[in-house]
Amino acid sequence: MPELPEVETTRRQIEPLLVGHCIECVLTTAPSYFFLTAPEALRRHLAGRTVKALDRKGKYLVLRFEDDARLLLHLGMTGQLFSSEATSTRLLSATARASLTPEAQTRFEPDEHTHLQFVLAGREPRVFFRDVRKFGKVQWLAPGESTARLDRLGIDALALTGEHLFRATRERKVAIKAMLLDQSVCAGIGNIYADEALFMARVRPGRAARRLTRNECQAIAISVRQVLERSIETGGSSISDYLAPDGRDGGYQDERKVYARMGEPCLSCSAPIKRKRIAARSSHYCPHCQK
Ligand SMILES: [Zn+2]
Repeated sequence: MPELPEVETTRRQIEPLLVGHCIECVLTTAPSYFFLTAPEALRRHLAGRTVKALDRKGKYLVLRFEDDARLLLHLGMTGQLFSSEATSTRLLSATARASLTPEAQTRFEPDEHTHLQFVLAGREPRVFFRDVRKFGKVQWLAPGESTARLDRLGIDALALTGEHLFRATRERKVAIKAMLLDQSVCAGIGNIYADEALFMARVRPGRAARRLTRNECQAIAISVRQVLERSIETGGSSISDYLAPDGRDGGYQDERKVYARMGEPCLSCSAPIKRKRIAARSSHYCPHCQK
């Protein structure tokens, strides 16, 4: 599933393609649970609008327009937001690839999974939102309209501070790992990055959140930001279907220290990495380096 670094990487690459430009029209697929706003209404609202900004909150992307109307986009599990000039074999199904010559295999033509196509006035490329499993979401927000999807989110993970985390953890009887995954506390930390940040901060994922010291909260907050910023620098992770908007693979999965490394030696002390279930998610940690 795309996490904050993948969404931020997407935001940075799509921003110059949309911001400051006028949407001539939007092409959509038929109504489905992907569309929180009916496709017909989206086409009507978006035609002729100029994009003022492309923001991110947690894992949501928010297109802002001149009258402060907004378009909310969520990539879900398999959503891909990319330029029509992107090339990647990952955009094509195995059956589609098999019928093409090797040279043609990386070109992408909008298919039945391409739910939104932003056509810009007098300008290429287009921007496509494709989602095979349709767990992604798109919603139109009129000026002044709010949504619980954004309102319930806590501080953005890239802005997390030790003091914020220390205060948030005081009354919580859950494990620190569960707290880091709670989007109402801190928006945008997923399983991979929570495990990696806790390893960097040398804190075990199963530790009771309210028993953490101020210094440990400080170390965790710094680690969360560092792990996410490093992943953004390397273009995000390419686990599952995530695809950078220009079609390249992310590089962060090569830098994992603990996530999905159960039984492999810790890169600091050689102790075997352990895996434990916390808050219904698997957590990976070094029993020697993390206290
Ligand atoms: Zn270790």
